[in-house]
Amino acid sequence: MVLPKQSIENKIIKRTTVGTLLSWGERFLARSGISSPLFCSEEILRFVLKKRKRSDLYLSDDTMVLQKAQVNEFYSLVERRGGRYPLQYITQEVGFLDFILKVHDGVFIPRPETEILVTETLKRLKDGVRYSVLDIGTGTGNIALSIAQYAPHAHICAVDISDDALRVAHENATRVGVSKQIDFKKSDCFLNIERGRTFDLIISNPPYIARSEFSSLEDEVRAEPYAALYGGGDGLDFYRHIVKEAPLFLNRRSLLSLEVGAGQAEAVKTILTNGNFRNSEIYKDYSHCNRVVIAEW
Ligand code: GLN
Repeated sequence: MVLPKQSIENKIIKRTTVGTLLSWGERFLARSGISSPLFCSEEILRFVLKKRKRSDLYLSDDTMVLQKAQVNEFYSLVERRGGRYPLQYITQEVGFLDFILKVHDGVFIPRPETEILVTETLKRLKDGVRYSVLDIGTGTGNIALSIAQYAPHAHICAVDISDDALRVAHENATRVGVSKQIDFKKSDCFLNIERGRTFDLIISNPPYIARSEFSSLEDEVRAEPYAALYGGGDGLDFYRHIVKEAPLFLNRRSLLSLEVGAGQAEAVKTILTNGNFRNSEIYKDYSHCNRVVIAEW
């Protein structure tokens, strides 16, 4: 489908309203094979018009004539989405549990599955205890700031190898109001954690895509940072590394909580057992896929 850009440049836009744009965007995205095309069209227009909620689009006067710059921005962003650029990188927002977090190109987009990692881990924590927590590969800070919010006595050290991620994570923690509970540190896993510093909980959603899986990844996923995706030949490198190093940094009677890729749970359980972790428990995600392994140290 050819974008009507030329005609937009050349003609005075008379009757371009919220309604006409939304349905044009929906049709364009549907033809490009994008799932949930109306939702995407709404989200992109919400972003362009700086509305807080999608429903605000429908509350605005549908006969309102939009500015040429807004219309052009909408067309060009819909076109980007049609080329499989992730919606969250366009709107620079992502929902996670009760939060709306900032995200942008170069930083891993949090997934709903990770909510299971956070909620199952939170269920293991007791009220009022001053837990010290290490979040490895914090990305947008979604795990760290959720734990800070729901376990208000916890203190979290959140590490990432990427400066970009650490900047966004810090911004998100500040927006949620939990930045005092979190210290952010640039570190490749445990590399820059002081020797002798120990934690009651180590939590991570590490990169876990195997080399052979890359060719079948959706284009949207490929737009995300390689370092946040690639988990070595069999996808399990980070689990082996974390399980090997974690004992140096864990207190007695502590927890190691890991998100795993589809089909990896049993292998990760074996890595944990061989590393002398006890009572590994597997939890399923929203699509009944084994997704989280929590073990005791
Ligand atoms: N901790 C972040 C998340 O779970 C980033 C994960 C990653 O970069 N692999 O969304």
